[in-house]
Amino acid sequence: MMTRRPHAVLAIGIALAAVLTLVAAWVMAQMRHDALASARASAYNMALLFERDTARNFDVYALSLQAVVDALADPRLASLAPDIRQRVLFDRAASANHLGAILVTDAAGNVTFDSHAVRPRQMNLANRDFFAVQRETPTTGLYVSRPFIPRDEPGQATIGLSRRLSNPDGSFAGIVVGTMRLDYFRQLFSGVDIGTNGAIALTLLDGTVLMRRPYDPALIGQKPDYSAIFQRAAQNAASGFFASAPVDGVRRWFALRRVEGFPLVFGVAIAAEDIYREWRVRAWIIGTLTALLDASLIALAAMFTRQLRRRVVVEEELRAQAGTDALTSLANRRAFEARALHEWQRARRAGGGLSLALLDVDRFKRFNDRYGHLAGDDALAAVAHAIDAHGRRNAGGVGNFAARYGGEEFVLLLPELPPAAALALAETVRAAVEALGVPHGDSPSGVLTVSVGVACTAQGAFADWRALVDAADAALYAAKRAGRNRVAAWQPTLAAEARGEAVEREARRR
Ligand code: GH3
Ligand code: MG
Ligand code: MG
Repeated sequence: MMTRRPHAVLAIGIALAAVLTLVAAWVMAQMRHDALASARASAYNMALLFERDTARNFDVYALSLQAVVDALADPRLASLAPDIRQRVLFDRAASANHLGAILVTDAAGNVTFDSHAVRPRQMNLANRDFFAVQRETPTTGLYVSRPFIPRDEPGQATIGLSRRLSNPDGSFAGIVVGTMRLDYFRQLFSGVDIGTNGAIALTLLDGTVLMRRPYDPALIGQKPDYSAIFQRAAQNAASGFFASAPVDGVRRWFALRRVEGFPLVFGVAIAAEDIYREWRVRAWIIGTLTALLDASLIALAAMFTRQLRRRVVVEEELRAQAGTDALTSLANRRAFEARALHEWQRARRAGGGLSLALLDVDRFKRFNDRYGHLAGDDALAAVAHAIDAHGRRNAGGVGNFAARYGGEEFVLLLPELPPAAALALAETVRAAVEALGVPHGDSPSGVLTVSVGVACTAQGAFADWRALVDAADAALYAAKRAGRNRVAAWQPTLAAEARGEAVEREARRR
């Protein structure tokens, strides 16, 4: 199949290359998907852990403040000595490195109790937001302040958590406030792996930055435009999303998480560049290898196709040569026999009749002797050409066929030609050879001539095509005996003669 259709090989090569490319593309797409999935999971998990840790911390701190509020409400407190009173008030106050003092103020903002000192520091907090908000809005509950720098700890950004103190009649009586250093979050963020270009931020609900990694002190307390990010987060709460960060414009995958019960939001963002960096390298390698494989595959298929096509051409040539006589370029004896059988069967089926003319060059032995074997070859080629040209051109039937029968003998197959027409054609061919005017000193006419014997199926009952050839041979012999350079038709009377002379003729031919 392939030898008959060389292009199929190329088509298969191209198809294989296409399949290979598709598979490679699919693998790369999967790898890209996996890269995002793992970044997504780690961003989500980080945000979750930050949120849990912070919620627990804030819960404990909020309880500490509540404990102070509760203790202050106890009327027995006023009767205690200052140091005992201080210990009772702040008994349950949580303490940790990142937590500052818990302070109590009166309605004017003056500090009245201090968890770090029995004698409270001389300080007024009335201008702080955590004081003002509690004074203005009684229903605030726990308030988380905007970041500020405490007077006693320069460089340490801090937030305050405040609760309102109320008189029995509900009027404002001051606040309890605890502070928390934002450095705590800086340390919390510093340990985790977010890639080279990742970012983590803790903000208030309004977008005010409390801490961000990469760390930039100038950014704390600022309010970059997080509105688009917050909006996206509200829509994709669970899955996260790609967006450009408002702080630095880097495209990142965002996982946001609100801290349960507090006005805080954690955002973990992993840069698209970091997510796909490894994938990009692998995609390059796979892509390059695939392209190389594809190119080699197609090149091989193309080479193979060319070889096959060349082979097909050669085979056709060989097949043609096998049926062609090298000297005259006519069909050879083998091709003739195949054709004769074919035409014989066709004539029998269709009943169209079949004529056959056998031609033999006159006194050719002497021609060779006189002019040499090579000149004889040339003469044979010329005669063959004349036979072919005129034997076919003058055909009444379509499938006329000329062949070199052997030596200086030729044969014409004339399908569907009645005896008279076959004779006429034979005469035309004979005249054409004579008209070539090849000089022959030992010929009565002075030129090379042929004798022709013609036999037709219409003339009698022949057993097979070989019998028809024998009949034409008998007629040819008759033409020779009658003086050569002429056409003779087979006649039934020749049959007996032919049988008798067959042995002699064979001998003469050798
Ligand atoms: P005729 O047929 O007229 O009776 O005489 P002839 O001399 O042609 O008869 P014969 O069959 O005895 O001789 C045929 C000669 O044809 C013998 C051989 O030398 C020559 N011959 C056969 N094939 C070739 C060939 O391919 N080239 C050449 N140059 N001569 C050939
Ligand atoms: Mg002969
Ligand atoms: Mg001869």
